[in-house]
Amino acid sequence: MDEATRTERALLALRGLSVSLQSTLEVDDILDGLVRAAVAMAGAEGGIAALCASDGLSGFRRIAGGQLATPDSHWSPGDPIPGRILTTPLPHLCNDVGNDPAVDAQLAARYGVTSLIGTPIHDAGGQMIGFLELHNKKDGTGFTRFDQDQLASAAQIAALAARNAHAFRTVSAIGAKLRESTERYRELVEGLDAIVWEAEVDPFRFTFVSRRAEELLGYPVSQWLEEPDFWVRHLHPGDRERVVGICRQTAAEGRDRRFRYRFLAAGGAEIWLRDHARVVRGERGATLRGVMVDVTEAMANEELLRRSEERFRSIFEGAGIGIAIVDRQGKILHGNPALREMFGNEDQQWETVGLGLDGARFASLVDGNLGRYQEEKLFRGTGGRELWVRLTVSAVQEDCCVHYAIVMLEDVTGRCRAEAEVAQLLARVQSDAAGLEVRVAERTAQLEEINSELDSFAHSVSHDLRAPLRAMRGFAEILLEDGTLDESQRIEYLGRILSAAQGMDLLIQDLLAYSRLSRQEIQLETVSLSQVVAEALRQLDLVAGGKQYRLEVRGELPEVAGHPTVLVQVLLNLLTNAIKFVPGGVHPRLRISAEQGERYCRLYVEDNGIGIPAEHQERIFNIFERLHPIESYPGTGVGLAIVRRAVNRLGGRIGVESRAGEGSRFWIELPRAAKAPLLVATPDPLAARTKPAK
Ligand code: ADP
Repeated sequence: MDEATRTERALLALRGLSVSLQSTLEVDDILDGLVRAAVAMAGAEGGIAALCASDGLSGFRRIAGGQLATPDSHWSPGDPIPGRILTTPLPHLCNDVGNDPAVDAQLAARYGVTSLIGTPIHDAGGQMIGFLELHNKKDGTGFTRFDQDQLASAAQIAALAARNAHAFRTVSAIGAKLRESTERYRELVEGLDAIVWEAEVDPFRFTFVSRRAEELLGYPVSQWLEEPDFWVRHLHPGDRERVVGICRQTAAEGRDRRFRYRFLAAGGAEIWLRDHARVVRGERGATLRGVMVDVTEAMANEELLRRSEERFRSIFEGAGIGIAIVDRQGKILHGNPALREMFGNEDQQWETVGLGLDGARFASLVDGNLGRYQEEKLFRGTGGRELWVRLTVSAVQEDCCVHYAIVMLEDVTGRCRAEAEVAQLLARVQSDAAGLEVRVAERTAQLEEINSELDSFAHSVSHDLRAPLRAMRGFAEILLEDGTLDESQRIEYLGRILSAAQGMDLLIQDLLAYSRLSRQEIQLETVSLSQVVAEALRQLDLVAGGKQYRLEVRGELPEVAGHPTVLVQVLLNLLTNAIKFVPGGVHPRLRISAEQGERYCRLYVEDNGIGIPAEHQERIFNIFERLHPIESYPGTGVGLAIVRRAVNRLGGRIGVESRAGEGSRFWIELPRAAKAPLLVATPDPLAARTKPAK
């Protein structure tokens, strides 16, 4: 074969290898193609090829005895290539393996290799990425320099193919990643609960609208993209001009805008959209990109909140009681007009109004341990007036924390005053009731006394009246039944009957006088005690039956408030007793005197009689009480009872100072004339009950 033919064949073989490896993207396929082509081109018995790529793809092939073998092991740069007989990384030609130091003689002997050529495979950067080695020429001749060059060319083609495969794999990986990222991005955009959009500005035209638009607003995306002015036409007429203006301004100024507007959805509903538009400058000029969010519900909530706030504000402003919002220290942050009115705080300087909320209960409230409490306090209100206020303090919790409290202030001054008045009245009523009870008790005691007096009165009257009647009946029976009586005896008995009748008459007269004294109305007047004494002495002389006595009136006798007739009766009774109760043979000596006190006068009637033992001095003023038998000292026992009743009716008192055998000094105390109010002494209740039946 001549030189030209050989070269032409070689070029054809190399082109064939190049074409076949161009479309080969796997390292294994490149290795297969390379080792087969190289063995064929050089007319070798066999060979080995190894190749790796920078992304880690690697391979190793061997042809021996016409068979292609794929060893299990892989090769990486730096490692010894399995089955490779050459030990140098450089291109090498050897037709006498026995004497070549670049040849592994043992390995050559094992595989029966006598001649060989080898060449490294380099990448574009010069790094060794593989090796190609051919063994034994089939025709028994040695390898030539031509074979060596051809092998180097094949190695270059393989390197290029490896680079291509690597580049293709890299691009494929990038493409896959890009697809993945685009898909993820698309999913994100479509999954957003918002409409993502892009638009050209002039004329305004959507170039992208995410599919969410269809779900939210009901129009197909194609309508957004294809229909001129689609978006502008569906803006709420009330918002259209403003929103279009904002878009233009956004594009012109190139800065982000957030705005809200109403959009008419396909079903006719008004949807509130919040749009965030921003400008992106590119080759095609300014583009708008944005995100639309359906805020209809939020707007409705906002409206509800606004209305609720308005309602609460009107309650706060118009409340008839003071309301204050205070911080955790109890300082007023806001106060309503009623509170201003309470404290006269026109300029709203709330620092000047101290509510004094620093007690233990307020501390417990701000710590979240107490929800609400009430207390009443005294304040100085407008114009310094006293203001009783009931405070209702409630905690306001936010995020499990009390940030402030609401204090309601109720003016309870009126109620407090009324309560104080009621308490006063109650105390007065209670004391009045107590007084009334005392008076009732006194009156009851009096009535009980009167009742018992009445009992003893009735008993005594019947007893004392029956005594003379018994006597009269006894003597009358003797007179009737005893026929033996002589004249003088009959006269004596008749005399005794007469005497009993006289005694009874006297008793009845005294009782009548006593009763009259109780019933009659007594008009008090100024009475001269001198005149009373003079009249009583005159009457004493009439009743004394000529009994002698000595009388001394000591000093001046004053005027008193009293009743002349009644007082004459009183004095006459005392004087009658004074001359009666004297021991036999003793000449009665009487002394009348008076003593003036600040409001009362005392009139004394003193005698030298038998005196009265101390233990009897009280009871002698009771009716029918007598200390002596009638034979010793005659009498009815009514005289001193009349005196006591009369003096009591005149508003005075009576008493006696005496010792048995040493005379007695009776006294009566009467109101002084000048001081005493001239009253009508009302009849004694006893009178009605003692009134004799006629
Ligand atoms: P009477 O004189 O009819 O007995 P009174 O009511 O006048 O009744 O007096 C009651 C009693 O008081 C008398 O019975 C007498 O025992 C006693 N008494 C009254 N006055 C005197 C007096 N001056 N001295 C001593 N005893 C008196």
